[in-house]
Amino acid sequence: SGGLERHSYDVVVVGAGGAGLRAAIAAHDAGARTAIVCKSLLGKAHTVMAEGGIAAAMGNRWPEDNWEVHFRDTMRGGKMLNNWRMAQLHAQEAPERVMELEDWGALFDRTDDGLISQRDFGGHKYARLAHVGDRTGLEMIRTLQQRAVALGIDVFMECTITELLQGPATGEGPAPVSGAFGYWRETGRFVVFEAPSVVLATGGIGKSFKVTSNSWEYTGDGHALALRAGASLINMEFVQFHPTGMVWPPSVKGLLVTESVRGDGGILKNSEGERFMFDYIPEFFKAETADTVEEADAWYEDKKNNRRPPELLPRDEVARAINSEIKAGRGSPHGGVFLDIASRRSPEFIRKRLPSMYHQFKELADVDITKEPMEIGPTCHYVMGGVEVDPDTQESAVPGLYAVGECSGGMHGSNRLGGNSLSDLLVFGRRAGDAASARAAGTTERTPISEDDVQAAQREALAPFELEGGENPYAIQGDLQQQMNDLVGIIRTRDELTQALKEVQGFKSRAERLSVEGHRQYNPGWHLALDLRNMLLVSECIATAALERTESRGGHTRDDFPMTDDSWGAKNLVLRLDPETREVTLAHQELPIMPDELKTFFQAT
Ligand code: FAD
Repeated sequence: SGGLERHSYDVVVVGAGGAGLRAAIAAHDAGARTAIVCKSLLGKAHTVMAEGGIAAAMGNRWPEDNWEVHFRDTMRGGKMLNNWRMAQLHAQEAPERVMELEDWGALFDRTDDGLISQRDFGGHKYARLAHVGDRTGLEMIRTLQQRAVALGIDVFMECTITELLQGPATGEGPAPVSGAFGYWRETGRFVVFEAPSVVLATGGIGKSFKVTSNSWEYTGDGHALALRAGASLINMEFVQFHPTGMVWPPSVKGLLVTESVRGDGGILKNSEGERFMFDYIPEFFKAETADTVEEADAWYEDKKNNRRPPELLPRDEVARAINSEIKAGRGSPHGGVFLDIASRRSPEFIRKRLPSMYHQFKELADVDITKEPMEIGPTCHYVMGGVEVDPDTQESAVPGLYAVGECSGGMHGSNRLGGNSLSDLLVFGRRAGDAASARAAGTTERTPISEDDVQAAQREALAPFELEGGENPYAIQGDLQQQMNDLVGIIRTRDELTQALKEVQGFKSRAERLSVEGHRQYNPGWHLALDLRNMLLVSECIATAALERTESRGGHTRDDFPMTDDSWGAKNLVLRLDPETREVTLAHQELPIMPDELKTFFQAT
């Protein structure tokens, strides 16, 4: 490997979304020589697609809002399965992180008195989402990216990491990280990064499902890399199906329709014109949800004396309700239900507050949302599950390996509230960058990269070229997406999950006989072949945990166990790879116990 490209840094951040950029800025500011590696172009990360806003209890619209209420909303939204410490840090630090973005040049929408405007979203007691129309992610990425580039942080774009490199084991646990191995997408040439701290910020897993709001990048790379390095994953049974994705035309099925449509007054109706969400208010949220149309509508103007509309229940509740209406035969012509803002707000209001939605429907579906209702249905949107990390530093069980953003687990429990991802990226991105930098500074002797491991990584990456006439990666991916959608989707049963695991095993054996055409220069078939390993591993983890959890909670709904079960309420399911057999193993683990002073926030309601 004489000609192999090599780089050496203190901190290597894998991923250039909000989490990766914020981590890299923090690591750089703390003095670390920092690099960002990302598999698409800078600015194309998933974060750019975020629409609604960043949740932070700044109290700009409702002075009653504070971190304690945000903490409580987040924990309740996650059905109390969240790591309490992460939820606390998140609620406490989010306002500062938003203000800092503004200092760095982000231009938020304003209130009449010039403060950062905040909008309503499901599960948040007060209007809390700092936003820029419905293009908040774009502004966030623009701001962070400009800053990262101005600071001189090195960026390796269109470069995909396929393996983490590790030194010799130093004790009982997994061996510390020593770097990462990847390839340039354009040339197919390999590259090695040496670093005592690696931060995974690779985002989610949505591309394992057929109908999804996620882009091609979301193949669970960070989840799989961490697992293979000896880290653990938690909350993997919890996948968020967003209630409102486009259902038509087929080419855009799954594309997101932002929750801001409901936050700004939009309502859901079935084919009979009935505003059906009033029929689906669960016991758990009865006390805080309006049960008449009058009260629901009055809430937008007067939050003190009215309870919130049922359209703004947490996403899992709304998605299940829509699913039931469609199943009961009360769906829209293209298999969704109706989302109506046209009859509720003026065309000017709609075009000002929801410009992207206006254009999205006009251009893609030829629907004018200021005049007609939209047709929408559930779409795979976000994974609550991810790498198990220390809540303060985001370090995984692998020394020197950090995970942050959507690829980490714990923060959102069984269901994430809208807006809580962008704030999560900022709060924990900064924390991970700080910790990764501190570790690098404290590492006097660097672990050398093992040349055997580099050779092995190259062989593994080139394996799909070895076989002729084998399986086509696109065919396996298509089959996986369909099966995950059908068997591990929004409503689950034991038989279907058992079947899903069988299917995944079948796909794994097929994937061992992959072949790709052509050569190493820009070869999407080869790239997919490498991503597919990750998608299969992550899918297996999701199905394994979903089969084990015999209750319904948050993003995980079991038709055969429809109730939320207290005995599951204090338990995480932890997935690891057995170091010997390399098989996925599952263990039950008690949730960390919340201190009494935090418990008091829940009694107040
Ligand atoms: P990303 O932004 O996806 O970044 C991942 C990065 O990792 C990319 O740069 C990618 O190239 C890189 N990468 C991945 N694998 C590799 C690899 N193997 N090697 C190298 N690089 C790799 N949340 C909110 O809070 N508010 C919202 O309003 C909101 N709206 C949303 C709207 C849409 C349409 C979608 C899809 C999501 C929305 N979310 C929202 C969720 C939120 O946008 C995401 O959870 C969040 O942006 C994830 O950020 P991240 O930094 O973890 O990952």
